[in-house]
Amino acid sequence: MIRTRLLMLGGLLALATSVPAQQARMTQWVERNPTGANDRIALGYAVPIPVDTPLPFDGFRSYAGLHARHQDLQATTPWVHGEVVGTTLAGRDIWAYRLGDADLETVDGLPEPAMLTNGGIHAREWQSPEVVTGILELLATHPEDDHFYDYLRENLNVIVIPTLNIDGFLQTQRYPARNYLNTDPSNPDTSPRDGRMRRKNMRNADEDLLTTLDHLEGVDLNRNNAPFWNTNPERSSSDSRSLVHHGASPASEPETRALDAAAGLGPVEELRLYTDVHSFSQVHFWARNANNRLTGQTEAVLSLFSNHHRSFVGKNYLFSNRASVPVSQGIGSTDEYFTHTYQVPSWTLEVEPTGGQAFHAPSPGCGADYGGEANNCHDGFILPESEITRVREQLAQSFAAVYYRQAGPPAVLEAKVFDPESEAVVFEAAWDPTDTRQRERYLNQLQALQLGRAYTLWVAYSKPMRWREGGAIVPFPGQLESSLFVSTGLRVGDNNLTVETSDPEWRDRAGPAPGGYLRYRDDAVVIGFTLPRDEVNSGQVVGSTEAQWAHLTADMVRMLLDGNPATAAYWRAGAWSGYENSAGEEGDTGDVDRTLSVQLTDQDLLPPFLAEPGLASAWADPSRDGEGFIIEMLADQRAVLYWFTYDDAGSQDWYIATGQVTGNRILFPELLRLNGGVFGPAFDPGKVTREVVGSASFTWSGCDEGKLVWRVGQRLGRQSVLRLTR
Ligand SMILES: [Zn+2]
Repeated sequence: MIRTRLLMLGGLLALATSVPAQQARMTQWVERNPTGANDRIALGYAVPIPVDTPLPFDGFRSYAGLHARHQDLQATTPWVHGEVVGTTLAGRDIWAYRLGDADLETVDGLPEPAMLTNGGIHAREWQSPEVVTGILELLATHPEDDHFYDYLRENLNVIVIPTLNIDGFLQTQRYPARNYLNTDPSNPDTSPRDGRMRRKNMRNADEDLLTTLDHLEGVDLNRNNAPFWNTNPERSSSDSRSLVHHGASPASEPETRALDAAAGLGPVEELRLYTDVHSFSQVHFWARNANNRLTGQTEAVLSLFSNHHRSFVGKNYLFSNRASVPVSQGIGSTDEYFTHTYQVPSWTLEVEPTGGQAFHAPSPGCGADYGGEANNCHDGFILPESEITRVREQLAQSFAAVYYRQAGPPAVLEAKVFDPESEAVVFEAAWDPTDTRQRERYLNQLQALQLGRAYTLWVAYSKPMRWREGGAIVPFPGQLESSLFVSTGLRVGDNNLTVETSDPEWRDRAGPAPGGYLRYRDDAVVIGFTLPRDEVNSGQVVGSTEAQWAHLTADMVRMLLDGNPATAAYWRAGAWSGYENSAGEEGDTGDVDRTLSVQLTDQDLLPPFLAEPGLASAWADPSRDGEGFIIEMLADQRAVLYWFTYDDAGSQDWYIATGQVTGNRILFPELLRLNGGVFGPAFDPGKVTREVVGSASFTWSGCDEGKLVWRVGQRLGRQSVLRLTR
């Protein structure tokens, strides 16, 4: 019985032309119905009544309460940016919120990837506005972590629409326990309509439940979309009384157009994910086009979401595999629109409960999943109040998991090798961002790596790579232990060298390499290694020999490295672009990064050149006239940098920094810009202001030469400098 009812709910809505056999009946949802009165439908749990409060609680908020919450988090956190993207038929503002920092650039200055999550398209599905508000609350209120959530907030543009069909939602909340029965033209006995069970928008319907002639009217906004609008008479209808009435034309409804306007906040070129949040039946519905790469990526997203969610309390969200999803067919839903128009992984999420489907056995389905009576399976739209906090908070985290994935594959950004004995850096490589989607390779080898010597390798990636619980690295929720691998190799030509390595240690403290991370906790790993003087290595490394690194690992959700960081990966035309395997071929899987070379030697070398304690010395970059700097070595391994240069406008800029000497480096964690100083007789120390603008480091490559590296805002400079004085 339940399954039969569910089929009708789930969308296989046969269109009957017969008139209702019985009189329209106003029915009321109640907790218990001991007398069996036919104007009552018992839930078996308390009937939720919306509450005018902005704060999340064990229950459902009114539309006013939810809206106040969104606006409040916009006013009190830096992570919520609201915009009106349209108005409903009744003239109400439809709000979308961009979540994350205010700009639309990643920390590397690239366009931020955009994700769009829509809620409240079907009025009676109260789980949906709560869940989408849960995403907003999670990203707005999660404490600063220098990790997963800060990465999402600083590098993504997450767009949410908590409630699209505001007019319909308000109608359901106006009559939270009442609706008509025996009036639905297709399923009069089982399908309650209007009031609490309104699904559609309010076209040609007024807000008075007692006016019966208009109560079946309205447009199903999830049948109002191109490209399959009005192509499936089994699943959508031209009858304006039908639960699945598709409207007069594609996007005839202002709410449908507002959803597209919200996509424009991406902007659409940067969109990488779309979800329409519904309830219920605990499944993902998705659509296919002819692009098999998009199909594969959509399956990967759904599988990640489902595995992540199952790790909480065993709630299993199922979806059909590609063989069961027809190509380029549809019913006019929004996920089809986003699949076909913008070619991004898109799906319709049906929040719990289950519908009692065989694949969800032994869950009984509908309200019975929570011990309810399931007298009319439409009680699946009425989640018990005691469940909504869990559903809202856990689904928000599963959304964060797929946002992290769609942020893009990981890439090696920096690698350094240290001589542990002297703490000197002997090899540095980096893929420096440019203002396009290209990166520039930087290599600086201070000394060849010697056979038989122990080294420390530090590698930093473009995103936080590991998840922790209680301080320990563990697989990300829903992932396997095998996702934690890291491998490092070296080869000469096609021949692998013998590399003895220690266990990888991820870095979760701020600070310079090799002790700290690059930008986010666990974006950098340290591995001790030795190239033994064995037969293989002695045969390949003769004199000074060039070798290639082979780095391979995966991010938290098992996306493998971008094999060529020279092109920053991004989403275009339904697939990843600039995401190479180790052969340099573009695809969606990534592989080993072999892009960095390193010099090896079979000779024993003298210890690397180390910073000398001494007096002040002046240095300059011969390619840059009129600027230079002075380094003064102090006691206790400390140093001061005085740097005079020019800003973009050609005005003179002064910087000062104090640093710590480590091996052959001086690290200046805070570069201060001095403003307002007029040097000479008019100097007034009271007018000088100091502002931290970035960081710098200086590395000696010899007594009279070195490299100055600085970061000011998003700008990065690497300069080769020579000593002018001693
Ligand atoms: Zn729905």
